[in-house]
Amino acid sequence: MRPRRLRGQKMRDAFGREINYMRVSVTDRCNLRCCYCMPAGAEPASGEAMTGEEILRTAAAAAELGVTKLRFTGGEPLMRPDIVSLCRRAAAVPGIQEVCLTTNGTLLAAMATPLKEAGVRRVNVSLDTLAPEKFARITGGGSLSRVLDGIEAARSAGLRVKINTVLLGDFNAGDLPRLADLTRENDMDVRFIERMPMPRTEEALRPDACMTFREALALIPGLTPLPREGTAQMFRFAGARGRVGFISPMTCPFCGWCNRIRLTADGHIKPCLHTAPEIPIRGLDRAGMREALRRAILAKPEKRPCLSMEKFSEAARSMNRIGG
Ligand code: SAM
Ligand code: SF4
Repeated sequence: MRPRRLRGQKMRDAFGREINYMRVSVTDRCNLRCCYCMPAGAEPASGEAMTGEEILRTAAAAAELGVTKLRFTGGEPLMRPDIVSLCRRAAAVPGIQEVCLTTNGTLLAAMATPLKEAGVRRVNVSLDTLAPEKFARITGGGSLSRVLDGIEAARSAGLRVKINTVLLGDFNAGDLPRLADLTRENDMDVRFIERMPMPRTEEALRPDACMTFREALALIPGLTPLPREGTAQMFRFAGARGRVGFISPMTCPFCGWCNRIRLTADGHIKPCLHTAPEIPIRGLDRAGMREALRRAILAKPEKRPCLSMEKFSEAARSMNRIGG
């Protein structure tokens, strides 16, 4: 069976989901070492990252199949020297309507304006605490003030900013209300994400090192539910300018809302974050890439079982290589 895309129609997978979004890990390198993503001793960087040309060719092939939105992630995407021109050229690919980034924010202060000028409109910035020493501990020595400067610069440059916070159990439970409070005065969303045990370290499996979305919600009184937005369950404080979201890969899988495929740093299409199959696209011509992307879309599973401490992700890569 072929994924259906007739002229002027949406691209749908075998289960009728519209697939219009590709997340691209533009590098698996990172200048931080977050405990839940690249802990000491975790998988080292892989081989050669895709060139800009390879990424753009894949983006063009994906756009021909109905992808309208690209997100550059990593690793840390702002570590790529060509990231601004990559964004500019990706935004000009026919059919691509939106190019956005997920970043740790450490290099954002100097790059926010060039990124905005290159056509980026939104950035997601990862931020798990507002306490400088804790931030340094979570990230393996990162500087909170650099990230806060990056967020400020992005907002001043006219980029829409979303904050992503991983729920780290006891470690950042006390930070959640303060992070959520950022949405009261700022037109900015904060989203809390259940930690996934990827990589599967002893620390990641400790019950006190993770938290469910319901436990987190209970720590933030005063939120009113809003309609769901894609993979996130949304809430708002009365009168707040921004919103609070929860993404719950561990306790409430959102496969029914999945609209994406992923391109890994070394040029493999992943139909699903948590399943093993990967389809290589390096060295293919445009038609070959389209075919590979079609196969990937058809290989998307309808759903996967809930991840749990006992049932792990089947992905054979850590998040920095997949592009979280
Ligand atoms: N370096 C960038 C950053 O940190 O935003 C982009 C890459 S990072 C892999 C993308 C997102 O994945 C981040 O928001 C990060 O918090 C999230 N992430 C990484 N490992 C995770 C895990 N084990 N569970 C849940 N989210 C994770
Ligand atoms: Fe780097 Fe992002 Fe992974 Fe942290 S979450 S180690 S910043 S890739």
